[in-house]
Amino acid sequence: MNHAVSFRQPAVKAKSWYSFRRNPALAQERSNNSRWLAQMVRSQRSGRTCLPHFLGLSPVDYHWMTHHLLLGRQRRLPLASLWQQHEDDLRYEQDLRQQLLELRRDEWNEIRYLLRDNRAGHNDCELLLADIVAAGCLGGDHLWRDLGLMTRAELSALMLQNFTALALANSGDMKWKKFFYKQLCEQGGGYVCRAPSCDQCQAYEDCFGPED
Ligand code: SF4
Repeated sequence: MNHAVSFRQPAVKAKSWYSFRRNPALAQERSNNSRWLAQMVRSQRSGRTCLPHFLGLSPVDYHWMTHHLLLGRQRRLPLASLWQQHEDDLRYEQDLRQQLLELRRDEWNEIRYLLRDNRAGHNDCELLLADIVAAGCLGGDHLWRDLGLMTRAELSALMLQNFTALALANSGDMKWKKFFYKQLCEQGGGYVCRAPSCDQCQAYEDCFGPED
């Protein structure tokens, strides 16, 4: 599968409002995603996430998101001008959190592709969320906190809507980061579990304990 993403072209395409009006379920999903994304942007700007300024997206995708998906005042922001693209490039390069993400790009990509390969396929916003959620996995706190969401339940709802098969596979309600790395372990990735099965593992509480 070719996972290459252009830096200058948005990774997503807008669905017409007509398609949302004809399908209330799609409209509800779009509304949910807009609410979660707006919350993540607010949290990032107030320093309550591990995410870089562009949330782990390219500047082009970030501006696509603010233009097409965010609610309220942010939604009226214009698409980036050429001059703003120059400023974005500078901000992107100088953002310390972005630099940290670049240092762990292989790991970020593994989680990102795990999510992208398991997206529900209802809306291209899932592609953006895969990139953002994967960026959140590189932080040191619980994933919902590193993403700037209000509760773990919000993250679980986001996962169920956008990455349904993967979310349902977490039938033991494992901590989300641990669950992703466990999936990578089973796919032969670099993360290695410490026991042949979770039942026998001394790290059980780390993987399945409360995530509040
Ligand atoms: S409990 Fe142990 S075996 Fe199960 S996912 Fe965690 S580290 Fe791996």
